[in-house]
Amino acid sequence: MIVQEALVKEFYIKNPNRDIPHKESVAWLMREYLKRNGKPFADPDRAIRKLAQSGFLIKVSKGVYRYNPELITKRELEDFTPKQKEEIMKRDGYKCVICGKGRADGVELQVDHIKPKDLGGEATIENGQTLCAQHNYMKKNFNQTETGKKMFIRLYNLAKKEGNKELLDFCTQILEVFEKNNINGHIIWEK
Ligand SMILES: [Zn+2]
Repeated sequence: MIVQEALVKEFYIKNPNRDIPHKESVAWLMREYLKRNGKPFADPDRAIRKLAQSGFLIKVSKGVYRYNPELITKRELEDFTPKQKEEIMKRDGYKCVICGKGRADGVELQVDHIKPKDLGGEATIENGQTLCAQHNYMKKNFNQTETGKKMFIRLYNLAKKEGNKELLDFCTQILEVFEKNNINGHIIWEK
């Protein structure tokens, strides 16, 4: 039994530095998965997208992906060394640049890439900043929570139109949690 991710990686590692339309990769994946596991590959497109999100594959254009082995090595180089981390934290006064809290306040400090690695951000002192664990988490998940809030607003409006009270209550409770925690206040929820 081969797991889906391993099979997708195997395919692209066998085909390095080539722009591959998903039709070609999906056909191979479906065939091989069925052959080896005796059941169909549930959602190969999703597995490919996931590897692109993690930085293993480069999205060349819609539905076209490329695997570049050198770039993977380069990405690993883009992690800060312990020495760089120490230097960045020292420059920032051992405090989170957003809330100003430090270890004395009981928070864990982390070094973050200002420009993220997947956008080409490098491991340089200039591209590093000190964040507390909470603010680092918030930065990394900001887009995710934005998407979530927008989706629940859409669902809320639909429930309202349909007069579906149960769904409306559910969405209201979730959106109130966003408001209570001041998350994504720039996305307006009109009640
Ligand atoms: Zn902070």
